[in-house]
Amino acid sequence: MKGRRGLIMGVANDHSIAWGIAKTLAAHGAELAFTYQGEALGKRVTPLANSVGSDIVLPCDVEDLASVDAVFAALDERWDGLDFVVHAIAFSDKNELKGRYADTTRENFARTMLISCFSFTEIAKRAAARMKAGGAMVTLTYGGSTRLMPNYNVMGVAKAALEASVRYLAGDFGPSGIRVNAISAGPVRTLAGAGIADARFMYNFQKENAPLRRTVSTEEIGGSALYFLSELSGGVTGEIHYVDSGYNIISMPRPDVLKA
Ligand code: NAD
Repeated sequence: MKGRRGLIMGVANDHSIAWGIAKTLAAHGAELAFTYQGEALGKRVTPLANSVGSDIVLPCDVEDLASVDAVFAALDERWDGLDFVVHAIAFSDKNELKGRYADTTRENFARTMLISCFSFTEIAKRAAARMKAGGAMVTLTYGGSTRLMPNYNVMGVAKAALEASVRYLAGDFGPSGIRVNAISAGPVRTLAGAGIADARFMYNFQKENAPLRRTVSTEEIGGSALYFLSELSGGVTGEIHYVDSGYNIISMPRPDVLKA
């Protein structure tokens, strides 16, 4: 990744998936810029960014399009182009990440979709315009997009739309040599993950039932991001790639666990 420049969006703290990805990319020589949401998180993100040699740390709330534009304007002042983007941003009202999907409100549906899905399209469009020599983008999704996952509710619907937008963006930017992929991560204990009701139960359930009998680390997700953002995956675009200890392939819990 030496000589490659990329924007990391979605670090909240050192448990964030985006941080696991950033560490891996930096260890392989990439030059990074970071965004943070709000001043409180800025105080956490700035020292993390500094620790991997980055002094480009910019505020961004994707609900405010002007702040997205300001990020790219600030990048233009420092860099003459961009090679990759990591989008690890999602939000929904936690009162609706429990109970029935049918009870989702119109307001939270629209907000969840904007932050967790459409922000990737708005960011991808701006990033692609700066990827003069081709490039790569990665977003983060979850298996609740294609399968019923208790409590995941409107976030599952947003992730399904996010995955569809990965395919459409791959189609739009493919002719320019820009690849767009998603990593579908297994459960990780993060701020966002904790917002989902029964998160601890789901985490332990996946640990007991996934073929690898464990959950994944943010560094392992970082390894897959390195693949997608480098020439290692030069022929791959529009892909939804599971990094979940194989949980997505199982059809039922292990009988020995159920019987115990
Ligand atoms: P996290 O809480 O560390 O990161 C979520 C990030 O989204 C935070 O940095 C937050 O500031 C940002 N964000 C939310 N609303 C925003 C807004 N309006 N503008 C700008 N940024 C905003 O949690 P995480 O688990 O690392 O989440 C990163 C991504 O990974 C999300 O897309 C999440 O859905 C996805 N994911 C998480 C898991 C998991 O189990 N934790 C599993 C699969 C996928």
